[in-house]
Amino acid sequence: MAQGVLDTSVEFLKGVGPKRAEMLNKELSIFNFGDLLYHYPFRYVDKTQFHQIRDLQEDSGAVQLRGILRRLSVAGEGRKRRLVGRLRDDTGYIELVWFTGVHWLEKQLEIGAEYVVYGRVNAFRNQLNIAHPEMERIGAEQVKKASAFAPVYPSTDKLNTKGLDAKVRRRIMKALFEKLTPADLPENLPAYLVQKFRFPSRFSALRQIHFPKTQEELQQARNRLKFEELFFLQLRLLQIRRKRKDAIKGWNFEKIGDYFNGFYKNKLPFELTGAQKRVLREIRKDLGSGVQMNRLLQGDVGSGKTIVGLMSMLMALDNGFQTCLMAPTEILAQQHFQSISEYVEGMDIEVAFLSGSVKGKKRKAVLEGVREGKIDILIGTHALIEPTVEFKNLGLSITDEQHRFGVAQRAKLWVKNKPFPPHVLVMTATPIPRTLAMTLYGDLDVSVIDELPPGRKPVKTMHKTENHRMRVIGFMREEIAKGRQVYVVFPLIEESEKLDLQNLQDGYEALSREFPAPDYQISVVHGRMKPDDKDFEMQRFVKHETQIMVATTVIEVGVNVPNASIMVIENTERFGLSQLHQLRGRVGRGAEQSFCILMSSFKLSKEGKERIQTMVRTNNGFEIAEADLKLRGPGNIEGTQQSGILNFRIADLARDGKILKTAREVAARILDNDPKLEKPDHHPIKWYLEKHGKKLKGWSRIS
Ligand code: ADP
Ligand code: MG
Repeated sequence: MAQGVLDTSVEFLKGVGPKRAEMLNKELSIFNFGDLLYHYPFRYVDKTQFHQIRDLQEDSGAVQLRGILRRLSVAGEGRKRRLVGRLRDDTGYIELVWFTGVHWLEKQLEIGAEYVVYGRVNAFRNQLNIAHPEMERIGAEQVKKASAFAPVYPSTDKLNTKGLDAKVRRRIMKALFEKLTPADLPENLPAYLVQKFRFPSRFSALRQIHFPKTQEELQQARNRLKFEELFFLQLRLLQIRRKRKDAIKGWNFEKIGDYFNGFYKNKLPFELTGAQKRVLREIRKDLGSGVQMNRLLQGDVGSGKTIVGLMSMLMALDNGFQTCLMAPTEILAQQHFQSISEYVEGMDIEVAFLSGSVKGKKRKAVLEGVREGKIDILIGTHALIEPTVEFKNLGLSITDEQHRFGVAQRAKLWVKNKPFPPHVLVMTATPIPRTLAMTLYGDLDVSVIDELPPGRKPVKTMHKTENHRMRVIGFMREEIAKGRQVYVVFPLIEESEKLDLQNLQDGYEALSREFPAPDYQISVVHGRMKPDDKDFEMQRFVKHETQIMVATTVIEVGVNVPNASIMVIENTERFGLSQLHQLRGRVGRGAEQSFCILMSSFKLSKEGKERIQTMVRTNNGFEIAEADLKLRGPGNIEGTQQSGILNFRIADLARDGKILKTAREVAARILDNDPKLEKPDHHPIKWYLEKHGKKLKGWSRIS
């Protein structure tokens, strides 16, 4: 039975048995042969090559060396007692350290003898060393043995201490492959693809990922398995998108009427950018197609998404529908409410606001107005998705997402109309790298505003350290003398809130000395203040009664003070890239040249340095997002954590962008030519999807 083998319980594999099986179940959710097979090594002990000591670096990882043990002595007392050795090759020397087994090792190891040494490079007080290296005396016969790849599997402490350590795991995997034949792992890709990409067969790839003989074999296996993983994901996402387009009818907004045209001719205060026009055309096409729109609108901070959202709403109004706009925070929702109310003033459009803070009679009136269709545009926070909010005929729902809404919340807006769901437009301000967008939003249509309104001067960004402090202060004075205003931002995170608040307070006091009243006035805003006080301080800054605003990241979203043209960020190394980019988006909103000054300590981690350099190098949100993805990996990008969709077995969105793009293109072409996967060539795909469809189903909840 070809399919049966993979379903066999691990218990029955040689070397496992009931006890170990239970541990594998509990610790790693490995139940059957298939689970075991798909649990790939996360790294390999590569003993196929020797490193030279001269080339070693802090981040060299695990290395194999070959050299002569030159010194060996016991150092330290009590718990710090350790054995320290020195290994020398033709290019240099490195320290070796052992904290346990000191006595025994001291006897075993021989000064002056040649060893093969294997271990992970560490840096301690600016010196490289290897702790607890594996040591092997070199005799003629050992050299041969040393040239092999060994897989290392993700494990847990429990497994390691209970007899399921690396060596046992390897043995178990060997036993598994003794049981498997190519017939157990039939091909799941069309033969023409395997040929075209010169992939190893599915069976070979799986064997090679566990037991590669060479780097090249490993690479081939990885390529194929990554492609496979991304290909089936994209295939599913594209299938979902097609299915929705076939099945989910949408309102057909037949006409462009007086609201839209009137606004365009008489009220639009500026010329739309080319990108805005293009996106509006894309939206127009969706809304008139009779199929529900599901569109993601990406655009950098300040690229002008709001007006695009508003004009899409006007298309809905022209066709007799209501619309809503949901924002992630109260401040942002308020701001949308104000600016949209201003835009449509005198146009006979009813705009209303709803959030948790709207209570009593006012709330009742809004809910009634929405139900009876008197309110045309409803703007608010996630209060909009509560069941009590019933629309008469919702035709379009827009979310201004900034990554803060979950997928499930977005879906709730769908059910707010019968028989058809409203069209959906999601606007996101933090650009998402293409590879992520293709996956997270792979079943949506995507529009991009990749052009800023004209006349904006790009923000000039500089990196300064503490010894430049006086010059930075001098620069602030000059700019304030020209009538500008300044933000000074401090980090604040929950884990170190007390310290952070103190830090902000100290910073505020230092600034007060440099910028004394009555000539200068300073506002302070942070998350621990009462909303009223916060608002009061914000308003003072907005009205230009104060020149400096000392704040935590609460200003990240929502304030728009075009006259504020300087942003000083303190402890920049403690901010994430996307956060820095959002913060910087607060300046550069007026006609003046704006500046962003990134203050940091002199000593920076490699990653901290790279983040700051990225900010100095570019203002392009997409470039920054790509850098962020590379530095932190996809799981840490804001908004992706809860989605689960990024839990790949082997693919890595930060690195495998090219493979992903190819996989998506191939999947799209296949579905174009053979939507139901009925051609004989595509039977392997169909079979595989049917067999594994259940596991892939979770993805249908996206959007
Ligand atoms: P975001 O994409 O960050 O939401 P906004 O919609 O808030 O950007 O727009 C930022 C600013 O740019 C607003 O003050 C808006 O009035 C202005 N704006 C938008 N589009 C244009 C345009 N085509 N020309 C000039 N200014 C524009
Ligand atoms: Mg916006």
